[in-house]
Amino acid sequence: MTAYRAAWVCPIDRAPIKNGVVEVDGGQIAAIREPGAGSREPGAGSREPGVESREPGITDLGNVALLPGLVNAHTHLELSWLRGRVPPANQFTEWVTTLVAIRRGTEQLITPEVVTCVHAAIRELRASGTVAVGDITNSLAAVEPMKAANLSGVVFHELLGFQERDGAVIEATRPMRDAAARHGIRISLAPHAPYSTSVELFKAIRGAVSASECPILSVHLGESMEEVELLEKGTGPWRDMLETIGKWRDDWGVPACGPVQFLDRHGVIDARTLVVHGVQFDDVALARLRQIGATLVACPRSNRWVGAGYPPIDRFYASGVAIAVGTDSLASVEDLNLFSELKTMRWLAPKVPARKILESATLVGAKALGLESDLGSIAPGKRAELICVQLPAVLDDVEEYLLSGIEPAQIQPLNS
Ligand SMILES: [Zn+2]
Repeated sequence: MTAYRAAWVCPIDRAPIKNGVVEVDGGQIAAIREPGAGSREPGAGSREPGVESREPGITDLGNVALLPGLVNAHTHLELSWLRGRVPPANQFTEWVTTLVAIRRGTEQLITPEVVTCVHAAIRELRASGTVAVGDITNSLAAVEPMKAANLSGVVFHELLGFQERDGAVIEATRPMRDAAARHGIRISLAPHAPYSTSVELFKAIRGAVSASECPILSVHLGESMEEVELLEKGTGPWRDMLETIGKWRDDWGVPACGPVQFLDRHGVIDARTLVVHGVQFDDVALARLRQIGATLVACPRSNRWVGAGYPPIDRFYASGVAIAVGTDSLASVEDLNLFSELKTMRWLAPKVPARKILESATLVGAKALGLESDLGSIAPGKRAELICVQLPAVLDDVEEYLLSGIEPAQIQPLNS
């Protein structure tokens, strides 16, 4: 058993504790308490970091915030080799066109460059305090590196095809997933998006995921205005692009509704669904997601980069829907530091309580990925995958400070 004291312990599921103490036993959190509580000798203790404080047996971590490791609910680690190669765009289809042109023919390839960049991306995630991811993949390239780095999470094998008339691709790709599953990482499926995936495939994936051991599904939804136009009117840049590449379907019926209504109509969204982006969602769509109990994953920096514009973060929270956070891939964001995402969210939604935003990057993400019994808050029985964030000498509000843009140089894992 080791006990640690930090200037601030931020459990996430309750208010921060000044000079709080966390007891760790065998890599698990045994207790969390106020200073002095449960000990013989109360007091502030020594402020020298890393040394035993006056309370016997307690290691003082110094002027840091101790908080649970972060959960990045939306990454594409296999795209890390594209860092800096897909410039920001004014329109989403413009960004997609560049991405597709660069990736053409390599989507399923696991080259040494791809693997090297996945390893580097995982190191970057770790260095910025992330301990779990919801990762989207076409190649399953990140599975082995995640296992090697002991990074928790769910890997979503993304399937798509606007002209697919059934779910045959699910069976056809099953051997890939079975082979990857030997690494012990949970693998599920992700239908890509309404402009790239047929209703038949959406429904088949929904059925397969619901019947699986990991019934969590992730889908890109409501990202761009172009997607909304296609669904509402059957026109616009997405239709043009699908026609240009020969993927349009003449029997495609215009849904004449918004993205949430569209997938809801076909039973695709449930309480174990991660709905990613939602930039275009109106209040009716948000209310429906709340009612279903789905999780909405906000990726504001990526949304801006790809030309979709910033998401309505304040309306997201006001709706009461569960909000998680993701960086998205290095093809649409400058780094994988989730604290930078939180800074952007705070800037977009200055009135949302700081703890709600921190909760999105920890507990809500952990719940969405089925990891809440191990991660997401500092509570007895959970894994001690905690991080220490160096604090300034003068501090008004520790939770607010954690939204101000924390850099990797300030972050250390708790080596329990
Ligand atoms: Zn994505």
